[in-house]
Order: sequence, then structure tokens, then C-alpha cells
Amino acid sequence: MTFSAQILTLYPEMFPGPLGQSLAGRALAEGLWSCEATNIRDFATDRHRSVDDTPAGGGPGMVLRADVVAAAIDGVANGTPVLAMTPRGRSLTQDRVRALASGPGVTILCGRFEGFDERLFEGRAIEEVSIGDYILSGGETAALVLLDACVRLLPGVMGAALSGDDESFESGLLEHPHYTRPPVWEGKAIPEVLRSGDHAKIAAWRSERSEMDTRSRRPDLWERYSSARGQSPSGARTRKQDE
Ligand code: SAH
Repeated sequence: MTFSAQILTLYPEMFPGPLGQSLAGRALAEGLWSCEATNIRDFATDRHRSVDDTPAGGGPGMVLRADVVAAAIDGVANGTPVLAMTPRGRSLTQDRVRALASGPGVTILCGRFEGFDERLFEGRAIEEVSIGDYILSGGETAALVLLDACVRLLPGVMGAALSGDDESFESGLLEHPHYTRPPVWEGKAIPEVLRSGDHAKIAAWRSERSEMDTRSRRPDLWERYSSARGQSPSGARTRKQDE
């Protein structure tokens, strides 16, 4: 099944952009996913083809019109969930990415200017998604982030099928650090255990580092992880309930 990525944007030429390269690019060429960007402006009805107008109540900037964006959504509707990229949305997580990647695809609305007329979200079933607590100039790069995260999970996209399972966030923890040759670089050696060939010891070291680093770098993740795990002994890696 082909994962369908449909994007509504004022800058369709920004797609597939960087996702035309590397893993995602090869998967696109192989038909594992499709990418179709449509210009919201095609759905404007006045003779200036305007998509935005000044904010009600005054203030700087422009707001994307609900009527024009809704017409665009209706015009491309193909049954995939409709997502709007906005800093007011729910923060994107690996769980949400995994759920989207296992579905038929996504239709993504990319905002510009001050964002969308709020009535759009009352008039259509739209999931508002943020990629983090900072402001981009437009939703296109956010859409590329979301698509990158989804596409790499599609069956057949990643070379080593298993390498997706162990990543940061998949277990609720950050992943352990990685090393490669040379064995000593600028006087710094690769941790001895990783060169021991003892797979059980290596696995234990990795899971210990994974917990240690999560605890120190991401106390928020660590708290969620340890409370989900309840009283079970430390050191054991667990899967989240919904996996
Ligand atoms: N005035 C808005 C920001 C608009 S930025 C506010 O303060 O909430 C312009 C567009 O960039 C947004 O409509 C959205 O599509 C996109 N964008 C900016 N930051 C984003 C983020 N963190 N996550 C997702 N989309 C974002």
C-alpha cells in the first residue's frame, strides 16, 4: 500500500524538497509513498486570488482565510486524516508518528503569516500539530519534518528493518550513545565493553546508559518512563503499553 502525502501550501515547489533525497527519495521513486503538493491559491475565488486577509481586531500580519483553505481541503479530500501545522497544536510524538505511518497517509495544511482563521478548525475535522515550542516562518518545513518521521517507518524504507525499533523514544527512553572506528580519537577511547564481544554485557551497558542519559538529559521522559514502569526493578527495558 502506498502512503499518500498530500500537502496544501502556498509553496508547492518546496515538496518533496529534501525528502526527494536519500532513504525517503528512494522510497518515493519506488512508490512506497506518494507526495502531491497543491497550491491553496488555486482555490481562491476573487480576481486577485487572495488567500489571506487582515486580522479581525487589528494587529500586525495577515490571516489565512477559512473559506479558501476549506475549499482546498474539500477539493483534495481523499480520506486521509487532515493535519494542520501550527504552534498551537499538540506536540508531535513518536507514538503519533507511528500511528500515522500505519494509516493510509496524511493531508497536511501548511500555514503562513499569522496562521489560519480559527473557524477552519470548527468547520472541518482537522488535527492541529506542532513540531516544538518555537516559531517557524511557515508550515512547510514542519510538514517535511512530520513526513520524514512517517516515511522512514514505512515497510521497506529502512535498510535494516530492525534499526527502527531501538531508537530514542521508541522505548520511552533516549537511545544509548554510539561509537565507531577509530578506536582512539584525540586520546579518547571507545568504552572497553563495546569492544569486548560480550553481547550480554554490551546490551546491559547500553540499557544502563540509555536510562542514565534519559534521567539526566530528559527528566520529563524519565519520570513518565519510571511511573509507567511502576515498581519493576531498574535496568529492565519495557515497551509502552500501547505497543
Ligand atoms: N502567529 C502564530 C505563528 C505563525 S507562524 C502563533 O504565534 O501561534 C506561521 C506558520 O508557520 C504557522 O501557521 C504554522 O503553519 C507554521 N509553524 C510555525 N511554527 C510551527 C511549529 N512550531 N510547529 C508547526 N508549525 C509551525
